[in-house]
Amino acid sequence: MHLKYFPFILGMALLLPGLATAADPEERLVKLRYEENYSPTWEETIGMFRLLDEAYKEAVLVEAGMTDCGKPLHTFIISSDRTFDPAKVKASGKTVLLVNNGIHPGEPEGIDASLLFAGDLLRNHQNMGRWLEEVVVVIIPVYNIGGALNRSAYNRSGQATPYETGFRGNAANLDLNRDFTKCDSENARSFTQIFHQWDPDVFLDTHTTNGSDHQYCITLIPPHPDQYPPALSRFLDREMLPALYTGMKQGEYELIPYVDWFYEDARSGIVGTFESPRYSIGYSGLFHSLGMITENLIYKPFPDRVKSVYQFLTLLTGYTAENGKKIRELREEALRETMEAREFPLSWRLDSTSWQMIEFKGYEMDEQQVSAVTGVARKGYDRSRPYTDSIRYYNKYVPAESVPVPDYYVVPQAWKPVLERMALNRIQHTKLLRDTVIRVTVDYIEDLKGAVRPYNGHYYHDSFTTRSEVQEIRFYAGDWLVPVRQKGMRYIIEMLEPKANDSFFRWNFYDSVLDQREYFSPYGFEENALRTLTELPELKKELEKRRSADPAFAASHNAQMAFIYNNSPWFEKSWRRYPVGRIFSSQP
Ligand SMILES: [Zn+2]
Repeated sequence: MHLKYFPFILGMALLLPGLATAADPEERLVKLRYEENYSPTWEETIGMFRLLDEAYKEAVLVEAGMTDCGKPLHTFIISSDRTFDPAKVKASGKTVLLVNNGIHPGEPEGIDASLLFAGDLLRNHQNMGRWLEEVVVVIIPVYNIGGALNRSAYNRSGQATPYETGFRGNAANLDLNRDFTKCDSENARSFTQIFHQWDPDVFLDTHTTNGSDHQYCITLIPPHPDQYPPALSRFLDREMLPALYTGMKQGEYELIPYVDWFYEDARSGIVGTFESPRYSIGYSGLFHSLGMITENLIYKPFPDRVKSVYQFLTLLTGYTAENGKKIRELREEALRETMEAREFPLSWRLDSTSWQMIEFKGYEMDEQQVSAVTGVARKGYDRSRPYTDSIRYYNKYVPAESVPVPDYYVVPQAWKPVLERMALNRIQHTKLLRDTVIRVTVDYIEDLKGAVRPYNGHYYHDSFTTRSEVQEIRFYAGDWLVPVRQKGMRYIIEMLEPKANDSFFRWNFYDSVLDQREYFSPYGFEENALRTLTELPELKKELEKRRSADPAFAASHNAQMAFIYNNSPWFEKSWRRYPVGRIFSSQP
């Protein structure tokens, strides 16, 4: 499709470089067909971004790492002073906005909207180009390329338009919006590099949702204020989020917080979403980046969905430009606040006693509608009966469990996949120069209930408890000593504290510690058990006490041998011991 325009554009670019390239300022370079319920394929999307790259010196399309299907990821960078090197952009004091599209390729509004937006920004449509004096915009055209290539008219069963879309899973059938910390996919590893190169001040990930039906075309999962230190939390709560909701209301498409209820009446209240680090904006929050998600409602026409994301992108870029300096300063302040914290929350719970009232435009529930398919009553909404009401928005989260912040973690090199991911996230560390015995606080994993089914390629550990002990443990030359108080502090704690929601432990990176490697045979342990009882008279006394109290125990050779083994130095101390040690300069 883009080839048709190619010679024409090239000619123009040579004659009229710069922001005002197009001869007719209202002429759009990218020819999108969202009005026909058609969203471009991956090849067409990249082709159109390439057209913009060729037409404007203020933009480049670059390859930015690999993806699981063997095709490279791209970033499209818009920078008015033609600085495209991330380090130089950061040094120049500009604010960075990163936009990620097509993580779920069946949810493609952001792909169309970003093309439309990039084109308008570059041709200085309605003086939008002025924002580029303050902001550099980085767009990932399509993140899940494998999913986008797996395109079909039969991918989204609840979604009427566009007529064809990509598939949710990537080439390795991973849901990339669960992969930001475990990084199983090449896509996620490439994203991690892009993310740290650009260190975006503001980040947007575009999606589409089903479930509850209401009058809004676009909803928002905002950066959750409670997830951020006070400086950013206050700014989000009092300034940025109200400005985004108000700003959208002034345009054609009003914005509402994401509605999570499935087939329920929103008048029973809606709940703010709190994303953990496996998700895009939970991840960006670890680095004090203001990450947010747009969720279009699938029941609305595709052209409206695209235009509503365009409206939001325009508003967000303008807001970021006008408040860029402030946002960057508050991120610095938030980092200082994080580094001063003595305690760190590992889990959160919704405060059901706290809510605010918001205006909500819904549809009445209809439980009696008879399905034309089954002839049976179907629960749903009646779009012929819209209402506007005041509803409760529950959005206050409080820490449910916190841990004291250690000064260092000692991370053994033996678990390489952990070190690789920490290095990818630019975690500062030193390596032990020689084998060293260190006094550390370690956790034993107890009461672990195994997952029955795999989830995103793992048997995620949902249910277990921990018991801490202070021990002297031998670490080896080359093991990592990680100071906690650094830029990646939140990442370090969220990934290394086993009970954190998306820790390396939860995602099976340390499962080998759950096996008992040695043990004893009731026959072969005889001589050593006898010697042990001689060496440990206290244990011998305990054994005798137990024998006289419990005749069944006294009659069982195996039970007694197990008792001696489990309560003596023969017992395997490293069994179920999570191998990352904590160092506290003062006892917590
Ligand atoms: Zn999605």
